Amino acid sequence: MTNIIKSKILLIYTGGTIGMKEDPETMALSPFEFNQILIEVPELKKIVHTIDTLSFEPPIDSSDINLDFWVDLAIKIKEEYLNYDGFVILHGTDTMSFTASALSFMINNLEKPIILTGSQLPIGKLRTDGKENLISSIEIAASRDSIGRPIVPEVCIYFDNKLFRGNRTTKFSAENFKAFFSPNYPALAESGIHIKFNKAYINYPKNWGNEIEIETSLNSSIAVIKLFPGITPDYINAVLETPNIRAVIIETFGSGNAPTSSWFISLIEKACNKGILIVNITQCLTGSVDMDAYSTGISLKKAGVIGGYDSTFEAAICKLIFLMGKYHDNKHIKDIMTTNIKGEITFN
Ligand code: ASP
Repeated sequence: MTNIIKSKILLIYTGGTIGMKEDPETMALSPFEFNQILIEVPELKKIVHTIDTLSFEPPIDSSDINLDFWVDLAIKIKEEYLNYDGFVILHGTDTMSFTASALSFMINNLEKPIILTGSQLPIGKLRTDGKENLISSIEIAASRDSIGRPIVPEVCIYFDNKLFRGNRTTKFSAENFKAFFSPNYPALAESGIHIKFNKAYINYPKNWGNEIEIETSLNSSIAVIKLFPGITPDYINAVLETPNIRAVIIETFGSGNAPTSSWFISLIEKACNKGILIVNITQCLTGSVDMDAYSTGISLKKAGVIGGYDSTFEAAICKLIFLMGKYHDNKHIKDIMTTNIKGEITFN
């Protein structure tokens, strides 16, 4: 049983559909003054917890999110960390999984919930999914056990009745209220009449009471190759020759398979020998890369490519951005890429 302890929650509004309102005359959507959230969601008054708000000015569509934004967000969380029991971040859905993944890597010693949520329909619309997403996210961020410890001390996404580890999520629907899923890791909680936590899958600190730390050096010198039958040498070569890139994510077929043509393998090998880190993740929605399963994967491994296990695309990109900001030497990153650092990959 969860005790209802009054918690203090910081609600951070960054932008996105959730904070929009329809102009009754023009029907155009525009962001409303976020400090008027109580007018839009009067239900918040019934919540027993204390909720303070903080808004990014101007609010941004999440397609405009960049590394500076992640740094600002991590700094704001660190500055306010001791003042609150939990954080709810309202964010556009389009890149929410990237932000959740990035924060999970940038924040160390996290002992409080950081719940990202948003909506498919603006909160000012009658049929909005935003109210439930917002209210349940606050309840989850405020949930503590009988000795006052947060039940979910992780960076998560809450959407359409499910709570997921943020760095396991991907947005898979541009239409449905069920917009996110966690292809390779179970939900951390589900809400129905009650919010049921799946505690066996939640990561808890080994020792509580450590000071939060944030890492703010990021580097996005990455290129991406998504394989398709018929992909040409010119294309692969152009990507691998992109000036100043340090890493390439290659989205392969099935369990990590790629063409065995000699031109392909030798271009990949040449890039690996130049020190470019190449990470293999699968195009499949679920499952994991296993480069030992087929000769098509073995050739990549021999060329120097490393496996990304069951990482989502979002987590693989953000992990590289984080590691390349932290370390100048790709050799060092190579080992950490294949290590589970924030619950983002599973080893079979
Ligand atoms: N374009 C919006 C955004 O990501 C979509 C949304 O919030 O659902 O900011």
